[in-house]
Amino acid sequence: MTSPTIIPRSDHCISRDNIDENALKVLYRLHRAGYRALLVGGGVRDLLLNHVPKDFDIATDAHPEQVKKLFGNCRLIGRRFRLAHVFYGREIIEVATFRASQDQPDDDRVHDDSGRILRDNVYGDMGDDVWRRDFTINALYYDIADFSVVDYTNAMVDIKQHTLRLIGDPDTRYREDPVRMLRAIRFAAKLDFTIHPDTEQPIYELGALLRDIPPARLYDEILKLFHSGKAVQSFQLLQKYQLLQHLFPQAELALQSNSETFERFLIHSLHSTDKRINDGKPITPAFLYAAMLWKPVQDKTEQYRQAGEPASIAMQNAISDVMSAQVKISSIPRRFSSVVRDIWYLQHRFNYRHGRRARSLLGHTKFRAAYDFMCLRGKAGELDDDSCEWWTNIQSLSSEEQERLLQPARNAPRKRRKSKPKS
Ligand code: ATP
Ligand code: MG
Repeated sequence: MTSPTIIPRSDHCISRDNIDENALKVLYRLHRAGYRALLVGGGVRDLLLNHVPKDFDIATDAHPEQVKKLFGNCRLIGRRFRLAHVFYGREIIEVATFRASQDQPDDDRVHDDSGRILRDNVYGDMGDDVWRRDFTINALYYDIADFSVVDYTNAMVDIKQHTLRLIGDPDTRYREDPVRMLRAIRFAAKLDFTIHPDTEQPIYELGALLRDIPPARLYDEILKLFHSGKAVQSFQLLQKYQLLQHLFPQAELALQSNSETFERFLIHSLHSTDKRINDGKPITPAFLYAAMLWKPVQDKTEQYRQAGEPASIAMQNAISDVMSAQVKISSIPRRFSSVVRDIWYLQHRFNYRHGRRARSLLGHTKFRAAYDFMCLRGKAGELDDDSCEWWTNIQSLSSEEQERLLQPARNAPRKRRKSKPKS
């Protein structure tokens, strides 16, 4: 067994002041009950890199049932991995029991034909658990017993050199869980790390394994990729590693058909998502899906029109085709898919600037999302008029001024009829 490097408190920058107080409570209670209690994963990594951690994961040698006994506010979840969730109001602290190494055969571990782990509840100690983690930088432990950092995989070197490296044989690790390919991209984008050549090389060959991942899990991963404030970088890395085709195949196809405008539109959209996140503004998955599938919907609509369908039916059919193809890959909760549809349906209504139609568009519950979307289309060069400026301007007016602007065209002063030329 490999012995770890122990980095004492004096030699690292992790301070308890930066650890969530509820995570500390869980760590201390486990420790006082005689169990090992360590912070692990993204929390340790982010603190070492002076980032603000998204969440704090805890590892322990207490079995899930033992954790449950210690905490009244605790629920056991998961089948694939059994975990304890400790609740503090709306905050959840995840506590995972150390798992045994993969080579150890056991009835509690189930693989499928391609090597993917389907169920895995074999417990071990920290020296086993570490090899199950994905990247070296995610496999550092912060020990509440003496505030040291425990490093089995030379992770501190990778942290210093900004290198993302899979633990173990990359090919095997990706086959066990293909989502690790997306995690590689997410961490490279989020931390601005370089993916080690051995870790990046198999991605080009194994991307297709993502097709076996259940749509609900891919949906979660897609949101993590695009809603972490680094959507543009994530998108560019997905393109570089040829993975976009496995998440949004219809978007990939549209991009390949030489659509520079669509690519510009996507980059602008993702950039605006990043900006909203960094400004602390709310974001919705509906916007991401609406953007990613916009050109596919337009292309399909055009096909239906050419086959003789009227415009509105053509778009309805196109939306239904594109959405049903996408949900086979990544699910979209219904509350969002209806917003995606609204954003699309409302686009052509920005052409009407007078009367009832324009007024009801301004008052539509999804006006704001549809308007932002339309302006991004304008910015990407898809629209050749001043729609964005016009609809921006009208929102800044008082309701009387708006009314004046929205007066139906027929109330505008009529042009004089030309008198017949005298013969
Ligand atoms: P984030 O900042 O997004 O929370 P994280 O690294 O903490 O990043 P989590 O999904 O919260 O990611 O997982 C916590 C830890 O569990 C990881 O750091 C890693 O050690 C381990 N882990 C998570 N998913 C996998 C996986 N698919 N394969 C192996 N280890 C994993
Ligand atoms: Mg985490």
